[in-house]
Amino acid sequence: MTQIEINQLHKCYPRQTMPAVNRITLNIPSGTLLALLGPSGSGKSTILKLIAGIDQPDAGSIHFDGQDMARVAANRRGAVLMFQKAYLFPFLSVADNIAFGLKIKRMPRTQMMDAVRHMLDLVELPGIEGKRPAQLSGGEQQRVALARALVTRPHVLLLDEPFSSLDPAVRQTLQEAVRRIQRELGITMLLVTHDRSEALSMADQVALLDQGRLLACNAPRQLFQRPPTRRAARLMGVSTFLSGTLDGNRLHTRLGALTVDALPNGCQRTIVAIRPEHLRLLPMPGPNALPAHVAERTFRGEHVEYRLCVGEETIRVRTYEGDNGDLSGSVFVQFPVEHLFAVEDDEPEQQA
Ligand code: ADP
Repeated sequence: MTQIEINQLHKCYPRQTMPAVNRITLNIPSGTLLALLGPSGSGKSTILKLIAGIDQPDAGSIHFDGQDMARVAANRRGAVLMFQKAYLFPFLSVADNIAFGLKIKRMPRTQMMDAVRHMLDLVELPGIEGKRPAQLSGGEQQRVALARALVTRPHVLLLDEPFSSLDPAVRQTLQEAVRRIQRELGITMLLVTHDRSEALSMADQVALLDQGRLLACNAPRQLFQRPPTRRAARLMGVSTFLSGTLDGNRLHTRLGALTVDALPNGCQRTIVAIRPEHLRLLPMPGPNALPAHVAERTFRGEHVEYRLCVGEETIRVRTYEGDNGDLSGSVFVQFPVEHLFAVEDDEPEQQA
């Protein structure tokens, strides 16, 4: 169990104009799972490499349980990295692959084999000690890689997109296995992923990154429901933003006036956001609804997506089968007050 504190961590690679990691501060409580979520190139893997000690920061600090890691070599940090590919030794058996780290520590053979068996039970692959990696599926190879990573009892496990090459069903069972093992062993884990649902379903806390910057760090539900900035909201799947001036609880936008709740007072420019599944489509006028025109309707299996024209703006609405039948032509789009939330504008160059 290790608590990790990252303070003002900064890394700019040579010949790069933008820092890969830009003054990031994070606290990962002992025994929790933090997901680093963000688009490709947002600095997630670099943070992992800096924590593992295989790359050095330009500035800032990393502490494990209060101990500064600046001069602690990678192999003395008690942190293990696991990658997208299993990287098993092809000519060694599963048992020898898993026991590799223990052999280096000169553990006696019987004790070593006990540890291997215990790890194979933990990853739910008992009895495959004698197999070779080529005889295993991709998901099984990742389980063996996980067993190999855990057998030396690291305090910290760093996972760099470990499920992204697996098909969805295998990915889900492995995600569940990792979460169960993380809880059972009380290990501190960092998971790098660009898959929003993976981060939200697995993590205790999600750190949302973009272009080397930390946009937000919060519990999955809070981050999903109330992302604090426009960019964070966009990365959480929000595409409707309305800007306007506040007059009491009325927000005057280019599209019309809407009632809003609990927003900062004053007549300053405010931006509100709403998730696509919280917008409602009505065949006739209703409270807090604006006239719209259906430009496109797409059946997506679990939901139907509408593209609406509201004045000059395009708004996407997600409805579920049976919500309101199939609407077309002139409609009204309703903005339920309880689902509207204010966001800070961190994309000033774009129009609301
Ligand atoms: P992510 O894991 O979110 O995809 P990375 O941490 O791999 O992002 O990369 C962040 C940025 O740093 C990218 O712009 C990438 O091109 C750059 N970068 C990463 N590693 C190196 C390196 N060894 N040398 C130069 N630039 C790098």
